[in-house]
Amino acid sequence: MNWHVGQKVVCVDNVCVEEFLTNGHVYDVHEVRWCCNDKPTLGVGIMASMPCFCTQCLRPYPSMMIGFGSTRFRPLDELDRIQEEVETEGIPIEEPAELVEA
Ligand SMILES: [Zn+2]
Repeated sequence: MNWHVGQKVVCVDNVCVEEFLTNGHVYDVHEVRWCCNDKPTLGVGIMASMPCFCTQCLRPYPSMMIGFGSTRFRPLDELDRIQEEVETEGIPIEEPAELVEA
């Protein structure tokens, strides 16, 4: 998965972060943070009240933007493609009603 700053992404999993993210909403990627994880965390412009750091090595991140796991998002253009596959092949995906709204 290629994540980059300026990318439009859709939230598909806001479990435990419901106060910050809404499923089906489109967000702009402001920061892509690779540290200890093989999957990056994404900053989508939502600021924390305290400095953020890697939860594994505790290295501080350069801004106070909250980093959310990239697994919580799908690129907007990829989501369009998945939707088309679902419509043509009937592949079940999680919460299709939420995704259609986006
Ligand atoms: Zn780290």
